[in-house]
Amino acid sequence: MDDRQFRQAMGKFATGVTVIATEVEGDVHGMTANAFMSVSLDPKLVVISIGEKAKILNKIKESNIFTVNILAADQQELSMIFAGQLKEHKEVEFGRLDGKPVLTGAVTQIACEVSAEHVEGDHTLFIGKVTDIHLEDKEPLIFYSGKYRSIVEQQPVTI
Ligand code: FAD
Ligand code: NAD
Repeated sequence: MDDRQFRQAMGKFATGVTVIATEVEGDVHGMTANAFMSVSLDPKLVVISIGEKAKILNKIKESNIFTVNILAADQQELSMIFAGQLKEHKEVEFGRLDGKPVLTGAVTQIACEVSAEHVEGDHTLFIGKVTDIHLEDKEPLIFYSGKYRSIVEQQPVTI
């Protein structure tokens, strides 16, 4: 099995898009990620998966905190900025949740403290203990088959 086939197959799992953010000595760093999952309700835990080459990896290890910002449908440009897909550098303002850097206008902001980390293959899984959440009533951005999408509501099934 080659890498392309694996990515093509994984890309058939439609996801939201998040920006993971952390802060080291006042320097905020963000990275686009769709490998995010809710793990446990009691205690409240989430997981993110960060590639071994990502600059944010050592920053999260150093700070021991991160936030997950679930992007809204109108925030595709932010996804591209934090995936390094835009040529020019754009300044992005961060707000604060529980003292941690968050993206204003996200559908959901989740503040976390790292409670465990596991190296698996070429990624590190960070388990985050959720310390605070902020929710907004907005539609999410969707990523499917390597493209950005938005939600279309299904007609209810009539029995
Ligand atoms: P960089 O490449 O240095 O940073 C990314 C970009 O963010 C740069 O352009 C940088 O200028 C900008 N940036 C960072 N901080 C700031 C700031 N404070 N203000 C303004 N700009 C800033 N990779 C994974 O490891 N896990 C995933 O789950 C994952 N999911 C992805 C999902 C999607 C939809 C996409 C498009 C990419 C995904 N990636 C994922 C790939 C990842 O986003 C890129 O490889 C990214 O460039 C790696 O970031 P980095 O930490 O190495 O930092
Ligand atoms: P793509 O077609 O490469 O991604 C489709 C799916 O494949 C993703 O949703 C993810 O589930 C999986 N995938 C892709 N790269 C992976 C990796 N290095 N490790 C584990 N799973 C991976 O989408 P694209 O638009 O070409 O992506 C843009 C860039 O972002 C690429 O360089 C891609 O490798 C990277 N990316 C990385 C991850 C990740 O590390 N988990 C996830 C998505 C995208």
